[in-house]
Amino acid sequence: KFITFEGPEGAGKTTIMEMVYNYYKQKEVQILSTREPGGIHIAEEIRKVILNPDHTTMDGRTEALLYAAARRQHLVEKVVPALENGTTVFCDRFIDSSLAYQGFARELGIEEVFQINQFAIGHTMPDLTIYFDLDPEVGLQRINETQGREINRLDLEKLDFHRKVREGYLLLVEKFPSRIMKINADQSIENVYKDVINQLEALLS
Ligand code: C5P
Ligand code: MG
Repeated sequence: KFITFEGPEGAGKTTIMEMVYNYYKQKEVQILSTREPGGIHIAEEIRKVILNPDHTTMDGRTEALLYAAARRQHLVEKVVPALENGTTVFCDRFIDSSLAYQGFARELGIEEVFQINQFAIGHTMPDLTIYFDLDPEVGLQRINETQGREINRLDLEKLDFHRKVREGYLLLVEKFPSRIMKINADQSIENVYKDVINQLEALLS
């Protein structure tokens, strides 16, 4: 099974993913946890190019294509081989990030960004996507409280941009109701964790 985790920064995706990973690991589910953009060397290199705060002139389509390129390499090298040998894959971000951030918030068009991503991923779509829904103001506040976090290019975006990202995600929830499950991320870590486990239980046990 291929399960992706989506939502803004500061929603707790990474933390919860680790907790959920440990839970299923203990139950001896064969499982792999990875992230986008990145997860393998080439894609981590592309990630650096995308997120470098000096790259202020990067064009939106260039950005979308780089995400798609990183996604393909990660899929081919890591995700697909794992899925083929029956391993469950948890991925921190996937195609819906591109649709919400580049397609909707950067206004490149959800359809257009979907098309370049189809070229990149073929038919490998998630079986389930957990979307962590959160008011961007709360998310940004949590990020600012995180010590030692490295600044990336997206940190230069204003609150309005992050509001649009959320709007984009909510559109995707409506568009793919059977694949994307929305979770309220404005709760304690323990409660968000419980909600995520509830969503995963049917698929993974
Ligand atoms: O979730 P993670 O911290 O790995 O994301 C890195 C940065 O890339 C975040 O600031 C996120 O908002 C941004 N991003 C983006 N478009 C994507 C995926 C991530 O702008 N398609
Ligand atoms: Mg994260």
